[in-house]
Amino acid sequence: MNYLKSERLNRLSYAIRGPIFDKAQQLEAQGHKIINLNIGNPAPFGFDVPDEIMEDMILNLRNAQGYCHHLGIFSARKAIMHYTQQVGIKDVRIEDIFIGNGVSELIVMTMQALLNPGDEILIPSPDYPLWTTAVGLSGGTPVHYICDEESDWNPDVNDIARKITSRTKGIVLINPNNPTGAVYEKDVLEQIVKLAADNNLMVFSDEIYDKILYDGHKHTPTASLREDVFFMTFGGLSKNYRATGFRGGWVIASGAKEKAKSYLEGLNLLASMRLCANVPTQYAIQTALGGYQSIDDLVGEEGRLRKQRDLVHYKLTDIPGITCVKPKGSMYVFPKIDLKKFNIESDEQFTLDLLTEHHVLVVPGSGFNTFDKSHFRVVFLPNADTLNKAIGEIENMLEERRLP
Ligand code: PLP
Repeated sequence: MNYLKSERLNRLSYAIRGPIFDKAQQLEAQGHKIINLNIGNPAPFGFDVPDEIMEDMILNLRNAQGYCHHLGIFSARKAIMHYTQQVGIKDVRIEDIFIGNGVSELIVMTMQALLNPGDEILIPSPDYPLWTTAVGLSGGTPVHYICDEESDWNPDVNDIARKITSRTKGIVLINPNNPTGAVYEKDVLEQIVKLAADNNLMVFSDEIYDKILYDGHKHTPTASLREDVFFMTFGGLSKNYRATGFRGGWVIASGAKEKAKSYLEGLNLLASMRLCANVPTQYAIQTALGGYQSIDDLVGEEGRLRKQRDLVHYKLTDIPGITCVKPKGSMYVFPKIDLKKFNIESDEQFTLDLLTEHHVLVVPGSGFNTFDKSHFRVVFLPNADTLNKAIGEIENMLEERRLP
């Protein structure tokens, strides 16, 4: 008898590291050089973790040998608490903060702690697909709401309202957004939290890119908007501090916590079952959150990330048949291909052919649970020369496939 994976995994996928990623690995093993524009992993592209964070971690390694409290070390949670005070999230106590091995672990834990079969969670489309997968893994039903490309990828509040049912438990927001680069407008967020208040829904706000903002755009922490809604706000070291490999993230419970006592007890149980998060990383959190924020230099007028965002956006939108909303935050662009102009059936065919024929790896939009199949995601972390070359290849492929 064969050993089969559990049935609940049959319905799940994670496209960012899915079949197309495996294909790229095969091609590399055969000696081909692949340009990787597929994963938001800053350090390999020369976006190093700030020295002070690195030094603090090394200095504290000897103190970090044992398990710590299952919610995280005190200094890190205190620093996160101070952060909530700075950004206007009210009444957060140390015990409202859970530290995890990256936001990924906490997304799965926060869904596992909540969902019963048939419970629904509203998730943006497109989304960072772990959200959809985590809801499915936890026995819930992901229900996708439209983020509208025509309005800079802001959530369509009417669509959210239409999709609320008696089984809806919560709304997920990803702001700044992966994969679209959207930074949501305050009034849109206000309308969404009003819907949450009116329908007694929890709000899960993934704000891991909250400092990666361009052109002076401002980020509004969702949990700063109301006190009568229960919020879980996610943040971490991976993106703002380029420390993806350290695996450090947190989630903050705030707002109507009195309604969430049982839920938080459940989450506490899950946190204690995995004993604690990676301890050395936690020693870097206080240093990361305090004082000088080196990300500001990367996203500012002269910043490398800002320049690369401009380059990629300019070059892609220069290709006839491609349109693309300019990202206001994060490290991704999410262009649309006008498929009827090309001999290309879908986003999946486009990405597979681009990989096998032109050795450029991007992720198909459908991997982010889009309603259509005509987008792809580009990570603009590689340097300008590499980005130029990659977009040149995209242009070549589209010229080859252009219909008369
Ligand atoms: N949330 C979003 C929106 C992301 O884009 C990512 C990673 O790309 C994560 C969470 C996971 O981050 P972490 O490295 O903290 O697990």
